[in-house]
Amino acid sequence: MPQPIRTTTRWVREGAPEATPRPPLGTAILRGLANRCPNCGQAHVFDGYLRVVKECAHCGIPLGDLRADDAPPYITLLLVGHIVVALLIAVERAFSPSTATEVAIFLPLTAVLILGLLRPIKGATVGAMLALGFLRHPPAV
Ligand SMILES: [Zn+2]
Repeated sequence: MPQPIRTTTRWVREGAPEATPRPPLGTAILRGLANRCPNCGQAHVFDGYLRVVKECAHCGIPLGDLRADDAPPYITLLLVGHIVVALLIAVERAFSPSTATEVAIFLPLTAVLILGLLRPIKGATVGAMLALGFLRHPPAV
């Protein structure tokens, strides 16, 4: 009886710039958190609030090709949800304020946290994607 042919399935990132050295994952994430290019750490990641620059102004890496899509909002809501719900429970147990007071405190707090964390989290996501080789095209040499 013939043995079934086993093939190894490997996910190959199209156009992964294997010849181009990438920064370590932690470095790329920290640079992205600080709105710095995850590759060189010199220029900005964003052109505006959340639009990623097409190319880094310093090293030319095509950061615009890294599409973070829904990951940054998902991560942001996950973090903010845990922070706000934990605070809400703590405040409710400690002070039992009225619902109107809780709404007046926690709705603006939630909005501020989301708007404040979304940008650095998107930068970190772009950095992680760069470090993990998610570029569609290798940068021009
Ligand atoms: Zn750069």
